[in-house]
Amino acid sequence: MSKRLMLSKLMILVLALMSLPVTQLQTSAAEGPNTKISFYSQDPFVEESAIGRMDASRFDPDASGRLLLSGDRVRMNEESVIYKQDSTQVFKKFAWNPWPAYAWSNEKGNFKFADEVRFPIHEVERDADGKIVLRDGLQVWTPRDLNLGSTTTFAAAHAARDAAEFWAGREIPWGVDNLLEIEPHAFIDFNAFYSVITRSLFFAVVPYRLPGETQVKMFETATCWEIAAHEAGHALHHTLKPNIVLGNVGFDTWGESFGDQTATWSSLRDPRRVRSVLAETSGNLYTSNSLTRIVEAFAALTGKGTGLRDSFQNKKVSDTTDEVHDRSQVLSGAAYKVFTLIYDGLKNGQGNEQKAITEAGDIMGVFLIHAADHTPENELTLEDVGKAYLKVDKELYGGRYRNTLVNEFINREIFNGGSVGEWIAHEAAAPDLRLPNRASNEKIERLVQANLNKLGIGPDFGLKLQSVARDERFGKTIVRVQLTDGRGSEAPLFENHGLLTFRADGTLADYQSPLPSDDGAQASIETQARGRALMSAARGLRIDQHGAPLSIVRRQDGRLSIEARVMRTSGIYCWVEAFTLEPPEGERREVIVPTIPGTIDGVQPSGVRILTADDLE
Ligand SMILES: [Zn+2]
Repeated sequence: MSKRLMLSKLMILVLALMSLPVTQLQTSAAEGPNTKISFYSQDPFVEESAIGRMDASRFDPDASGRLLLSGDRVRMNEESVIYKQDSTQVFKKFAWNPWPAYAWSNEKGNFKFADEVRFPIHEVERDADGKIVLRDGLQVWTPRDLNLGSTTTFAAAHAARDAAEFWAGREIPWGVDNLLEIEPHAFIDFNAFYSVITRSLFFAVVPYRLPGETQVKMFETATCWEIAAHEAGHALHHTLKPNIVLGNVGFDTWGESFGDQTATWSSLRDPRRVRSVLAETSGNLYTSNSLTRIVEAFAALTGKGTGLRDSFQNKKVSDTTDEVHDRSQVLSGAAYKVFTLIYDGLKNGQGNEQKAITEAGDIMGVFLIHAADHTPENELTLEDVGKAYLKVDKELYGGRYRNTLVNEFINREIFNGGSVGEWIAHEAAAPDLRLPNRASNEKIERLVQANLNKLGIGPDFGLKLQSVARDERFGKTIVRVQLTDGRGSEAPLFENHGLLTFRADGTLADYQSPLPSDDGAQASIETQARGRALMSAARGLRIDQHGAPLSIVRRQDGRLSIEARVMRTSGIYCWVEAFTLEPPEGERREVIVPTIPGTIDGVQPSGVRILTADDLE
């Protein structure tokens, strides 16, 4: 660990001690009795755990009435084993899980675990010869009564969800049946991920050895608030874009920034965190600070950079590779820069730094969430996300931030010279539709059917209502539709989806067509005829015989194509097999994006050795 890092950590620790010891985690739930909960507000390498409070209704009681660290929105699930991932990405059982099977409240009925060791040592059971005991072929690790990984992920997931719903003005039901399952100790790796198939979160544990030490320590990625909020961000993002083509690079790139921004902006809803950031930066946010450094534990363990990522930078598209985490920094950097400009404006206007940073964080959260209502449903690019920010600004902030956003997006190369013109043309082409007051779903369906022409749907295709959501903060109605093969209620469905967003006054604010666009404009009748012809070719190749509906897609080189996508799974891992016109026999596409790209093992520039499962044998 560098001296500079040690110093800044010491500073943060002093600042944390100066502020109030107990913080109120903001929740949108009804007022209820508060339950204390310990958690790391960043990670163990930055500072000691803090104690916050959560609404007691978030915790379910067990049969005896003792509170469990599980409730109606988040359920913690400790599997009986810890996995390791082999070189072919297959998860294999490696050790018996030594963490408590259920996180129960302590004897005082709360989740305060302030005395738990900050840097736990990894201990294993050994036989008389000193060899690691194996039971049924799996290593036996010494049981450890450590709860901070579970409490931190639980608290962070709730904070992310509460923040997102506050920004959205509507419920964002995540996971399965609105319940997000979290496995806080699932495998061995410096990583964590959101699984699109189980719609749940998996956190890994990282064995490491400090220079000059012989003992192995174990870092739980679940004790990193930012990783947990980032993963919860993926779960929210998936709910906000339910029809995304899994593995879409534009969406995955946005997703990494979405996760990082979920962590950043939601942390600013905690007044203690706001005070600590202001004290740390002396109110000048235009600098690298604990808010911009994502996962400081990464920097502490590896000695690389200020964190896993840092949003205070000027990275452009051409400075980054198309690897999704790397490229995502372009959007995160742009968003952070815009945040500082909004903050400066608010601070100069009202002279209250604390209020300014809280409001600026809220505005960035609104951009983050509402951009999902103005991007294409199936496939999208970072440029589409930039255009969606312009639309959110136009609709919700009267165009106040347009120049700021455009300048930033052009500088970062998210926009090219034509982007703003395309967006203006898209705006001008929005059909003139109006939703009747308090329209029922049946009325909305009738409105859609009566306006297929205006919606650019040619005679060979139709639309079916998929879902309706209403927001209570801005009064929007968000309508999703699905493309059909021909028209009528019995017409077969294609995996192509459209999005209509209506304003509080009932007028249509935006329409994202279910058909792939022609250079940013609506698909022409010629394009639709071409799609139709390709559909017949696809059926000839029996692409429709894999149990998945067909979809019309546009390839990166601009060609139209047809494909059917089938989800495959193995253990806790999944991927998509896509049958397309190009290889009709199917191709594998990765759909899980681990939070940390690549493998991190061996001796790091910090001198710390990161161990793999094989090193533990
Ligand atoms: Zn991620």
